[in-house]
Amino acid sequence: MTKQWHIARHIDEAASQEALSDAAELLRQGQTVAFPTETVYGLGADATNTDAVKQIFMAKGRPSDNPLIVHIADRQDLPKWTKPVEGPVEQLMEAFWPGPLTIIFPVRQGTISPLVTAGLSTVGIRIPDNTVARELIRLSGRPIAAPSANSSGKPSPTRAEHVLADLDGRIGGIVEAGSATVGLESTVVEWAQDALHILRPGGVTAEQLREALPGVTVIAPAGGEPSGDAAESIDMSPGIAADTSSSAAIAGEAPRAPGMKYAHYAPRGRMILVDGADPDAVASTIRRELRAAKSRGERTGVLTRTERSALYEEADVVVACGTLAAPHTIAQGLFAALRQFDQDEATFILAESCPEHGIGAAIMNRLRKAAGGNIIHSDEGH
Ligand code: AMP
Ligand code: MG
Repeated sequence: MTKQWHIARHIDEAASQEALSDAAELLRQGQTVAFPTETVYGLGADATNTDAVKQIFMAKGRPSDNPLIVHIADRQDLPKWTKPVEGPVEQLMEAFWPGPLTIIFPVRQGTISPLVTAGLSTVGIRIPDNTVARELIRLSGRPIAAPSANSSGKPSPTRAEHVLADLDGRIGGIVEAGSATVGLESTVVEWAQDALHILRPGGVTAEQLREALPGVTVIAPAGGEPSGDAAESIDMSPGIAADTSSSAAIAGEAPRAPGMKYAHYAPRGRMILVDGADPDAVASTIRRELRAAKSRGERTGVLTRTERSALYEEADVVVACGTLAAPHTIAQGLFAALRQFDQDEATFILAESCPEHGIGAAIMNRLRKAAGGNIIHSDEGH
């Protein structure tokens, strides 16, 4: 049985304190508890307890060589789990904590479970910008390892109902408190070779990092991420080209982000990302592919934006996610939109890309993964 607590009032009120104390007690006993953060819902366990952490991997079906991020409530606790790090890390914590930025530190051996770090000598840590999450962590008195609270490979959960759809009965409990405000996971950064490397784009943008750290070199992965793993196992239909630019490996130069090689965020139907600078060309490519898919007998879906949803009336399922005028709304709605295609049983999905600056870099990173690296460039070849 998965216990459920709903936090409807301020965390200081008695009912909230009682619920959060119960949930924290479960964490201390070595069970898993899902909780809201500003990025997505996380599945937490005591990061110092290997048996507890094991249950995260079991519930999610997550590969064990994929390290977990550790969440803390208070900067003062950092030296308990990490050793000092070079570079402008103080400035980073000052500027972005609490918030969607995970910083890689050398781990203090013998404290955090090696299952959390996947045996690495480093650990990724952040303080979430969500009062419910921080109060739960504080009451537990432990550092809390927490990946997204979804089945491995599925879109991350931005609402409690997403967590329950995937993990009800497989986890100890869930603290429910509204929707995630950012909607995408944290940005993961590491200081190495006199530069700040973005290992995974996320809620804090490269532009924000550069602004906060004048004079510091910030290296963002080109066209996605450091590891080249696109289009592994997905067969492509004729006329659909795999994108190879996102595999442009900078591995070897930049520190690698372990775990990035796994399929992620994918709806059940096959998804193709349609890229291109000309919005009209994108629309006509999508309509052409829709017609081809229909003739194959697919149940078709299109992932688009509010202002463009009327363009795709011939699709069986049109999901309008946010608006380009406010890209953070696309980030907020993205994972719920991907889940919607499963609910509406789409078998073939065409997704519009978005400009790759600001939060757009993280959105495109997730979309490429959801599409298994399958991209059509609409400006080419016709
Ligand atoms: P999530 O899948 O959201 O739990 O995020 C975990 C991701 O953070 C991993 O897949 C890695 O990309 C990154 N990460 C976590 N810990 C480390 C670490 N010690 N070194 C490098 N990357 C890490
Ligand atoms: Mg995840």
